Amino acid sequence: MTRIAVIGGGVSGIASAFYLRQRNFEVDLYESEDQIGGRIGSEMLLGRWLDFGGKNIGKNYPLFRDFVRECGVNDYEYFGFNTSQMINGRIVRINKEGAKLLNTLRFISLCGFDGIRKLYPHVRAILKDRRQGVLNSDYFNRIAEQYDNVSLAGYLKEPCLSHVVRPVTVRMNGAEPDECYPGNFGSNLALIIDSYEQLKKGMHGMLDAFQASARDSSLRILTGHWVTSVSSDQGSGCITIGLLHKGVSSTAVYDKVISALPAIRLSVLLDELLPDASALLKKIRYYPVAIAIVKYRRDVFQKSQRAMVFDHTIPLSNAGAYGINDLDLVRYTFSGRVSRSVIYETSAPEDVVALGEKIAGPYFTIRDNMRESFAYRYIVEGLCAYSPLHHHLLRDIDKMLEPFTGFGATGDYRRGASIESCFRAAGECVDKLLGGVH
Ligand SMILES: Cc1cc2nc3c(=O)[nH]c(=O)nc-3n(C[C@H](O)[C@H](O)[C@H](O)COP(=O)(O)OP(=O)(O)OC[C@H]3O[C@@H](n4cnc5c(N)ncnc54)[C@H](O)[C@@H]3O)c2cc1C
Repeated sequence: MTRIAVIGGGVSGIASAFYLRQRNFEVDLYESEDQIGGRIGSEMLLGRWLDFGGKNIGKNYPLFRDFVRECGVNDYEYFGFNTSQMINGRIVRINKEGAKLLNTLRFISLCGFDGIRKLYPHVRAILKDRRQGVLNSDYFNRIAEQYDNVSLAGYLKEPCLSHVVRPVTVRMNGAEPDECYPGNFGSNLALIIDSYEQLKKGMHGMLDAFQASARDSSLRILTGHWVTSVSSDQGSGCITIGLLHKGVSSTAVYDKVISALPAIRLSVLLDELLPDASALLKKIRYYPVAIAIVKYRRDVFQKSQRAMVFDHTIPLSNAGAYGINDLDLVRYTFSGRVSRSVIYETSAPEDVVALGEKIAGPYFTIRDNMRESFAYRYIVEGLCAYSPLHHHLLRDIDKMLEPFTGFGATGDYRRGASIESCFRAAGECVDKLLGGVH
């Protein structure tokens, strides 16, 4: 029987393992940390598991929803789309539960004439065919060919840039508009026009269910196993991976291997074996993000205004209610250029939380509220911002990986940095690697 290893136990690795298991392969899933999940990981706060990374599930996430159902989980709660920002001293809200016409008019005024003229055809293309709303789609690759000689900051104008584009790029890519490119913006636009739910038991509940479903199957989940190398045995056609587990080094041999690592991590693994591919993978940008979840004694938000985004001069990109019924639980997200200049991996979590409270304090019930507890995470390779003419780069990387038979690569740099896109990319990677093999 064909033996397959998947490296990386984040969404991309879990999705790869899931699709391989559906085809009845024997799979070993290697994760360097003690828990699977990667950037959808959770932490315990006052007896409750809370998600620090991806947690909002779009209505248009069919692949992920299928997976969740297969794991036996089917409890979602509405999260909606609710945000606000300060514009010329006034708070402007966009709330999908509110009047549709009013929201549409607000959105049009935030976009301005130039924004509508440029973005509307893209939105229409996605609504017509949802498959275009991912990274490296035919439609957006044509946009990249035409416009990726400039960043989004050159492609779009104010007010669209500050009030529509930036809140999305800092949130999804950890990057400013001048660090993102028009050809990659389709995957962001698809998320803006979606509407969201979250799992009632959070990502932690889903990961538990997935691990339980693996117990009696041909899938082994090996946490605490750091993959240190990959090498190809030309004679046997097998792939050897080097491992470090509890300080002990070993090797394991597989017929096929899938990397489900962020591009920057895969580049390290391929440094010696395929230095040219490794150099190209390094061109894909990842930016850090810091997340603090703080529980207060009383409600911080009102139901009608559950989140706020902040502008480019401020390190806090977003402060929002954790869930539609969690108005006393705030998720502070710090990303973007100013955030990178004031918050580091070594920053004290307490200081970061205090900074978030100072910034959001004037708008919500925070100053005269009591902080009960908080949890904090800093993710170095937090959010992927891709590269200009990204489809060319991906094509060149794949060409360089071709001689490495039996090896496939997936991750959030393939189809976009969302949970659904990771599932889509993983499915495509499995299909490509296995073709008709069963
Ligand atoms: C703050 C934040 C909020 C987000 N919000 C949303 C959201 O609401 N909705 C949405 O759809 N998406 C969201 N996303 C995006 C989504 O969570 C990510 O795109 C997705 O989780 C990436 O998964 P991945 O498996 O590709 O990468 P990762 O999660 O990074 O997985 C890679 C895994 O590989 C492991 N690893 C690394 N090196 C090795 C090695 N050498 N050997 C073995 N294992 C290794 C890592 O520990 C990690 O577990 C968010 C992301 C962040 C950071």
